[in-house]
Amino acid sequence: FFFGVMEQCHLMSQSAPERVSKRWLAIGLLIGLFGTLTFLITIGDVSNAMWVAPASIGRGSGSLFSEASTGGRRVAKTALRTGTTTNGYEDTADPALPQATDSERKSPFRKLVAGGAGLIASTFAMGAHAATATSEVHSTTTLVATLLGALACPMVRLYSSVGLLFTATLTGFASKSSSAFFSSAVLAQLAVSAAAAVSVLVTVGFTATGGFAGLVAFVALFGLREYWRASRLAKRDQDPTLQNRIASFYDQTSQVWEEVWGEHMHHGYYKKGEVIRNHEQNIEAQEDMVEAILKYGNVDKMSGPIRILDAGCGIGGSARYLAEKFPEAKVNGITLSPFQRQRAVALTKAKGLEDRVNFDVEDAMHTRFPDNTFDLVYSMESGEHMPDKKGFVEECKRVLKPGGTLVMAVWCHRETPPALEPQEVDLLQKIYKVYALPYVCQLSDFQKFAVDMNMTNTKFEDWTDYIKPFWWEVIKKAVSVQGVVGLIRSGWTAIYGAWAAWWMHKAVEGGVFVFGAFTATKKAEA
Ligand code: SAH
Repeated sequence: FFFGVMEQCHLMSQSAPERVSKRWLAIGLLIGLFGTLTFLITIGDVSNAMWVAPASIGRGSGSLFSEASTGGRRVAKTALRTGTTTNGYEDTADPALPQATDSERKSPFRKLVAGGAGLIASTFAMGAHAATATSEVHSTTTLVATLLGALACPMVRLYSSVGLLFTATLTGFASKSSSAFFSSAVLAQLAVSAAAAVSVLVTVGFTATGGFAGLVAFVALFGLREYWRASRLAKRDQDPTLQNRIASFYDQTSQVWEEVWGEHMHHGYYKKGEVIRNHEQNIEAQEDMVEAILKYGNVDKMSGPIRILDAGCGIGGSARYLAEKFPEAKVNGITLSPFQRQRAVALTKAKGLEDRVNFDVEDAMHTRFPDNTFDLVYSMESGEHMPDKKGFVEECKRVLKPGGTLVMAVWCHRETPPALEPQEVDLLQKIYKVYALPYVCQLSDFQKFAVDMNMTNTKFEDWTDYIKPFWWEVIKKAVSVQGVVGLIRSGWTAIYGAWAAWWMHKAVEGGVFVFGAFTATKKAEA
């Protein structure tokens, strides 16, 4: 992209504006844009592929990118297949999870992929250069000639060298050894040479079909990558149980959410009529949500060595908040997503809270915790994922100590009657599908369940008014540059999830979606 622009500026500065061809500038920019996108996407996968094997699967956490999603998914697959859960207290190297073999760690395939990224980038860059370098390019033959000439151009060499250095460093870091650095540098050099050959073909393709081939190539690359991912997900995604769908959804979307939004994966509690000027307000609103639900359950002033279960913990935003608020508390966070668990563990370590905050991959419907364990069970927007709402409340009650409290913030539909209209049901069903929800119930149902179970202090409240600005904020983030790049890197599930923010916005405004607070206490003598 920059290459094309620079070249044209160069021509202009030499006062040769008559040689500046708008058409070739446009084509060059287009090619450059495709190149950039392809490069970003490829790099996304390269970093996943390379960092995961050595750092994440092999030795638990340790590297910044060790939680990259492909590895997370692989761990997820095995954890779910074998039914193993993990003990997070001692952190991360879990023998129950698959260990990367040496050959996997040093796989030349990964280096080739890295080289490939450089190759694709250089290819497109050269294409861009050739197309914009001169207005004399008006036929395939002159184009090829220009392109070959471009190989000798210092700018092309500069670009390739940067790409080369980048890929070499990438692979070098990945293998954490200098010899790997050099051998991958050689590989990358080979790749760049190959780029010269390929660029001729690709660019001729562009010229001949006016960019259409580029579009096809882009779509094909995206499709190939998604196919590659799908085949890596293999069994888990072919077994579309609810648990698997939830785990898969969060494995694939948590990284982009964290990067673009933050560590809390739930609505904010906004002041009525609040105008949002910056993202900090969204983060504050999310912390206010945690405070609000604690206050609602009358558990905001607890003290001493209490135990808290965060049922459906995401990447641990709430769990850490609770641990900081209650300095003697021990918090257990559970999630279905191994990626989230790894990320939660890493973030908690970074805050030095790991001896009090522990994360496991575990089903909140049937936990391993003994009866009467927790003083507080906290469910921040996980109830909507539960296949049996009453069963979930029952499990929460089981693990609560007598006198202990359950607080929930949960997605619901509006109270009935009047019965839901067909278009309301349609909208809800679209939302279920994209966010891996089985169904949602009405808020008052939770109170009925709790009363049936002989719980006390039960109450619920519709908080939809307080969350109204949220989904519009999500949409704004999704269409930001960072959002778009993150979404493309994360893949189809995340893109679809972001798209559905619009449905959520509609569901909230239309009144079919209800955001509810609910609390109940286990009777002291029960
Ligand atoms: N409470 C978190 C995340 C909310 S997203 C936060 O506030 O940031 C919903 C979470 O519920 C995800 O982490 C998902 O893995 C978890 N979840 C959904 N169904 C679950 C189940 N059956 N068992 C455990 N966790 C579940």
